[in-house]
Amino acid sequence: MGDIANVFPLGQVCVNTIRPPPPVATISGERPAIWCRLGHHVRVLLSKDEVGPVEVVAGDGASPFFLVCDHAGRLIPRALGALGLSEEHLDRHIAWDIGAAAVTRRLAEALGASAILQRYSRLVIDCNRPPDAADSIVRRSERTEVPGNADVSPPAAEQRAREIFWPYHDEIRARLDRCAIDGRPTILVAMHSFTPVFLDRPRAWHAGVLYNRDARFGRELLRALGGEGDLVVGDNEPYAAGDLTDYTIVHHGERRGLLHVEVEIRQDLISDAGGQGAWAARLARLLPVALASCEGSSARVRHEESEEAHEDPRRL
Ligand SMILES: [Zn+2]
Repeated sequence: MGDIANVFPLGQVCVNTIRPPPPVATISGERPAIWCRLGHHVRVLLSKDEVGPVEVVAGDGASPFFLVCDHAGRLIPRALGALGLSEEHLDRHIAWDIGAAAVTRRLAEALGASAILQRYSRLVIDCNRPPDAADSIVRRSERTEVPGNADVSPPAAEQRAREIFWPYHDEIRARLDRCAIDGRPTILVAMHSFTPVFLDRPRAWHAGVLYNRDARFGRELLRALGGEGDLVVGDNEPYAAGDLTDYTIVHHGERRGLLHVEVEIRQDLISDAGGQGAWAARLARLLPVALASCEGSSARVRHEESEEAHEDPRRL
């Protein structure tokens, strides 16, 4: 019992012996207690011959930028069939962020930055939603019913989180922990893409810059993209980031106090290699510009605060 208590703290009991969970502890202690409420055996979701959810692009160790791509892939675990969907549906934006993975890889290469990409379809589990959110596993996306998600039991949902959501976020967390331990400044950039038409409504933005409470880096990237002169850029458009709709920048950026941003690019602009290369090159040029502006703003604020403190003895 002592061993089990060590592995499953807080009185949780796990009798799923097929694939034991990885260690629970994290610096931020964010893993909810969904891990081992499974009171019965469940079959393995990802078989040994299936690729894992995490793709790692190693950086050169010098870049402060750290890229993630939550919706990079459109794989479906074999155990789930095709979730009852045709290949045509699985190739649409409902299943993945078209073009985002290629831009992320090219951008990582151009910056010398590390990137973590998630290979499985967001229809299996959305890696940018809190796993307890109602739309973590959608029954319907835009106008498409997802038959394989019509009746997902809590243990089955937990299994999807255990085998896909958490390994991806644990990898990000571990790497950001390492950056923090090494004292390396890190800017988290979450890469996404959006469909040009949603529910019959065209979207005019070429790109969007999303943030939640902390707009420090987003504001500067907005300014840099706006300065290009040929872009319509959404400020928290086509949708705003938030605690209920976004997991990645909230947990890995905001809660750590890291500079961060969520970048959305319209899918028709990055659906081929030419567009992907052009956007990667554009962002590789503008992200450092935004960072320099951000650091300049911080330095100005610090200088002004120190001047004020000097002038006002009550603050000393
Ligand atoms: Zn996305």
